[in-house]
This record gives sequence, C-alpha cells and structure tokens, in this order.
Amino acid sequence: MEAMVTATQAIPSLIDTESALSILDGSLPLLDVIQQASKPRFTYFQNTVRIHILDNIKNGYCPEDCGYCAQRKNGDSGIQEYPLKSEDEIFADAKQAKENGAYRFCMVTSGTGPGDKSIQKLSKTIRRITDELQMKVCLSAGILDQGKAQILKEAGLDRYNHNLNTSSSHYGEICTTHTYSDRLSTLESAQSAGIGLCSGVIVGMGESLDDIVAVAMELKRLEVASIPVNFFIPIKGHAIANPSHLTPDMCLRILAVFRLINPSAEIRMAAGREGHLRGMESMGLYIANSLFASGYLNVKGSEIQNTIQMIRDAGMVPEFADGIPEEWSIALKEDKNHPYDVKNFPDLYKFQKNLLP
Ligand code: SF4
Repeated sequence: MEAMVTATQAIPSLIDTESALSILDGSLPLLDVIQQASKPRFTYFQNTVRIHILDNIKNGYCPEDCGYCAQRKNGDSGIQEYPLKSEDEIFADAKQAKENGAYRFCMVTSGTGPGDKSIQKLSKTIRRITDELQMKVCLSAGILDQGKAQILKEAGLDRYNHNLNTSSSHYGEICTTHTYSDRLSTLESAQSAGIGLCSGVIVGMGESLDDIVAVAMELKRLEVASIPVNFFIPIKGHAIANPSHLTPDMCLRILAVFRLINPSAEIRMAAGREGHLRGMESMGLYIANSLFASGYLNVKGSEIQNTIQMIRDAGMVPEFADGIPEEWSIALKEDKNHPYDVKNFPDLYKFQKNLLP
C-alpha cells in the first residue's frame, strides 16, 4: 500500500502553463477538468484516500510574521501557546498513534526553525521513535540548513514538511521576516540530505492565477512527493491584505491544476476544505488522494467520523497515515476490506437505524 502512495514524481506534467491557466480562468467546463484530473489520481492511487492527523508539538512563541498563521508574532489570535513538548511526551504521543494503527508519525513545531538544542532534542526523539516503534517520521519545524538536515536524516527522519505557500513574486505580500529563497533552500537542504519532501501551497491570499501555476510548477521541479493544497482560512488577527474570494468551483480547478502538473504526487485537500469546497467537497476526492481529519494546527475541521463517512459515500477507501482514534483502529483490524462499519460505532448505528423505514 505504501509503495503505491509514495509514487515518485518522475512522471511528466500532463499540462503546460497555458492549459493550467485555461483551467483556472474558467474557460474549460468544470466536469471536463475533473474528469481529466481523475485519470492520474486513479492510476497512481486507485480509490484510496490517505488520512493525515497533525500533532502540534510546539504552539506559538514565533518571531515570524506569516500573515496567514495564528501563531505569528503580534497575531492576537488568542491561541494557547506552549513550548516544545518533552521527549517523553512526544514519544508517548507516537506510541499512542502506533497503537491506534498509525504508519507515520507527523510532528509540527512553530518558529523560524530549530536551534542547535532543539535539533538535538528532536533527533533523539526521532531516533527513539524509529528504533523502538519502527515508525516512519515526518517533521515540520521551519527553516533548516544542510547541517541540521543531515543530523535529522541520520536520526532516521523520513520526510520533511515545509510549504512554499505561494509564488516567489507574491511571497513578500504574505511574510516579511523571511524570504521565498529561505523556503526554497530549506527544501533543497532536506532533499540533498536524502529526506523526502512534503511541500504545498495556501491559495486565497490575494495571489494571481499565474502565481498559483508558478507554485505548482516549482513543486514539480523539486519533485515533491506530497503536496498539501490549503485554502486560506481568515483567522482572527490575520494579516493578509487582500484575501481572494474562493468558490467551490475555483477550489476544484486549483486542485486539478496541482494534480495535472504533478500527476503522481500525493495531492492533499488540506486546511479549509470544509468551508471553501462546502457541498462540493467530495468531488475533490476525484482529484486529491489525501486529506487532513480532525482539524488543523489552530483551527477546527471536520471530525474523523464525518471525514470517513464522506470518503465511504464517494465509494473510496480510507487509508490511515498519521494516527487514528482507537475505535477506528479496532474497526480497521476487524474488517480490513470494509474498515468502516457503522455497527462498530453504536451512536451512529442507532442514528442510521432510526433513518431506516
Ligand atoms: S507559519 Fe511557522 S514560521 Fe510562520 S508564523 Fe506560523 S509558526 Fe511562525
């Protein structure tokens, strides 16, 4: 199963910049676009949908000013800040995730990037998780240089997340404390250390259609294996000057552009899918092959039960990646072919029975 979802990016793009723009500007009918994008989606990932759950191991205390982020300095977003969890706390989270059936443990920290002390602590934790739990680990910890990337790789880090977020020409509009080049060189450092890349975009921050295509092309150039497509959530205290109006139609076109430019990458319908795709959310599953459940770093999202229901309703199979609640794990172990069985969830079963004639 894992080999299938980590297909490399060796497959060439299926569209060029001009075709991508004609998808985004609405020249092509939406259903034709979805159908075109569904072909590589089903070729490389069949009907599976990979579910990711984020574990926020440090929240807030950030000196950066990324305009979209609740943890930015002077953000006034009212989040609860906490420092980097201890090695034992993170290990306990990973152990719990493994017991619940997780394949990969995904840790996220706030901040510009890890200092030497944090790198040592994270490396020790990664080594302990990989040695004692035999789990793959993904880390999102900000800006990295080659030396730090190498230390993390030697500790057993499997994948590094660092989103490009927007194009090079638009980057100055969303953040002033670091540059697009800093982001790019972090990805290059992780890549040259032999760590797999996860990097994506946030749309709806006032970018042009050209900006969207430029990020999709850049991720293709970098051969990024896992691409989260986030839809901007206008949190309290955000600093995005001109957020764009995203319609469900536009969100589906954006997903399609990322899929057609990066045909074999894991395309994730990420933060904001609920509010921006609304009634069209399940159509996104014909293009994207993964999503987040149970919310985002500082914003609530669809609960895992609703997410699984949506996946099953679309005739697809949920594939858990980063940790699931125990009851879902039990259901998976009991019935591998039909992991979702409403009888395992008494409240839902009662509810559904009441709906029957
Ligand atoms: S995205 Fe990361 S670096 Fe930027 S403000 Fe948020 S926590 Fe800080």
